[in-house]
Amino acid sequence: MISSRTMLFGVAGDPVSHSLSPILQNYFFKLFGVDGVYLAFHVMPAELPAALLGARAMGLSGLNITIPHKNSAARLSECRSREVDLLGVANTLAIRAGKVHAFTTDHIGFVNSLGSEKERFAGSNVLLFGAGGSARSIAFALSGLGVANLTIANRSHERAADLESFCRTSLHMTAVTAMTFEHPGLWAAIAGSSILINATASGMFPHSDEAPISSFDMISKSHFVYDLVYNPRNTRLMAEAKKRGAAVQGGLEMLVHQGLAALNIWLYADYQLQETELNKLKTLLLRELR
Ligand code: NAP
Repeated sequence: MISSRTMLFGVAGDPVSHSLSPILQNYFFKLFGVDGVYLAFHVMPAELPAALLGARAMGLSGLNITIPHKNSAARLSECRSREVDLLGVANTLAIRAGKVHAFTTDHIGFVNSLGSEKERFAGSNVLLFGAGGSARSIAFALSGLGVANLTIANRSHERAADLESFCRTSLHMTAVTAMTFEHPGLWAAIAGSSILINATASGMFPHSDEAPISSFDMISKSHFVYDLVYNPRNTRLMAEAKKRGAAVQGGLEMLVHQGLAALNIWLYADYQLQETELNKLKTLLLRELR
């Protein structure tokens, strides 16, 4: 029952009507018996400073931050976690004693979504498609998983080179290469990597017939292909990889786990999700995606 003690949480974004976070977090609240409600707030970029002041003044307990506010939210927060300082983005804000504390949970969501596939990463060659905000978080996660070689392929060379430099200077990764999708070395990089990760927006609904690469011939059964895109559930990249015998995973589990990590930050908790609950939640979210 909602009462005067009920905590208020939400997600701030522009646009935000597509966000699955209200369904996700309100499901968690019910599952874990949290006295909270979670809403979506459409916040225009120019209004973000006012929205954060308002959230503080009204005593909100926490916010998730989505496109296009992740960089600004990190900058505007009074306290930042080590990861936010490093990555320059925040997707989770906790309001504690009148101060806004910024965190980021995408890297936690990625690692926790891997399950037993996590064992593949140490000492492996990884090819990462994309060099945006989430690719940066994935690169950070990969540095913690002990990968041997990282190749970054991106549409624009400038961003790929930026991420390469970030990996070298801030993450202390030495074996990093950056290229565009047009680079002739891309096919050898696919063949020579056991893990391919898509952190681009390519293939996302409504452009579901697209994929970050134009040919899938170099993908084989020895690959693990992870696509951060969760809408559609099975992306073109995943379908083509599956056809060639590769193991595949989509972005829905990561979405769930980054949300769970945010909840654990807000409540200083350590909630875990059992397999059956995860499957129930995935079914609920998939219904929304149609
Ligand atoms: P972002 O910072 O805007 O970066 C977008 C990236 O996608 C850039 O590398 C961009 O390349 C590339 N890109 C965009 N359109 C492309 C196209 N048509 N072909 C090839 N490359 C294209 O966005 P982001 O936050 O990193 O998000 C990227 C994707 O990850 C989105 O699909 C998002 O939904 C997904 N994501 C999923 C989760 C999850 O929990 N599953 C979490 C975060 C993000 P340029 O640099 O050349 O522009």
